[in-house]
Amino acid sequence: MPIEKVEKIWMNGSFVSWDDAKIHVLSHVVHYGTSWFEGIRCYNTKKGPAVFRLDAHLRRLYDSAKIYRAEIPYSIEQLSKAVIETIKINNLNECYIRPVAFRGYGEIGVNPLGCPVDVAIAVWRWGAYLGAEALEKGIDVCTSSWHRPTPGTFPTMAKAGGNYLNSQLIKMEALANGYAEGIALDANGTVSEGSGENIFVIRDSVLYTTPFASAILPGVTRSSILTLAKKLQYQVIETQIPRELLYIADEVFFTGTAAEITPVRSIDKIVVGQGKAGKITKELQKEFFDVVHNGNDPYQWLTFIG
Ligand code: PMP
Repeated sequence: MPIEKVEKIWMNGSFVSWDDAKIHVLSHVVHYGTSWFEGIRCYNTKKGPAVFRLDAHLRRLYDSAKIYRAEIPYSIEQLSKAVIETIKINNLNECYIRPVAFRGYGEIGVNPLGCPVDVAIAVWRWGAYLGAEALEKGIDVCTSSWHRPTPGTFPTMAKAGGNYLNSQLIKMEALANGYAEGIALDANGTVSEGSGENIFVIRDSVLYTTPFASAILPGVTRSSILTLAKKLQYQVIETQIPRELLYIADEVFFTGTAAEITPVRSIDKIVVGQGKAGKITKELQKEFFDVVHNGNDPYQWLTFIG
């Protein structure tokens, strides 16, 4: 996905021009993957531009840093304001937002504690991650030969830069084999999630999704779907999912800030349900898009850009 350059990036409390948002090659993050980040979207809703679930995303950013004993030197309120200001200063009304905190230049060596925690916020124009067509027709995916981290290795509840080496292996293998995405299994061989999406499986009108302990990132879109599914009075069960349930499901979809609600039409060349977005997937998409496109927000998920 190409990055479309804009004017300014927020860096450690002030705006710098896009081309000046640089770091030293001996920054800790470059060598040891020491970063925590978020992917957030600002939608141009019918009621005006609004950021989707800004508080939940920033909370996860602070949680991610805390797991790694890092303190972000700004309050959530300050970063929340900085996100809005970064969108405004770049005159965008629809964009992807990437806040990142990282261990910067200080000392070299595994111990990160002597390195500062630097923070940046970048925004740029961005469309649907897996393509607009994917939202209707669904995508072909595979199970990955790469597994998610086993317990006691990498904390998957943290959205840490280093974790994405695992995601990259999953994604590259899927693409190399002609699939749009890969589904990784966890240490037990049960389903975990996609390289950058959580997963929902539907059978007999019951929704199943994998729990935190299945080595997933606690997705903000996942939690939104849990709310919307309950509103539509569907039963949702957070439980371990055996791989074979994927093959006999009526519907399967991915959730994520980038993927939104993307139906899966085949897994390992086995067709899922009717091989296109199913009934419940469509109902959930409708509810979700009513918030982010129409700006109808009974859940207080939107922060409107004043
Ligand atoms: N899992 C992983 C590994 C991810 O990178 C993402 C994207 N942030 C998700 C799940 C979905 O999370 P969210 O809905 O918060 O974007």
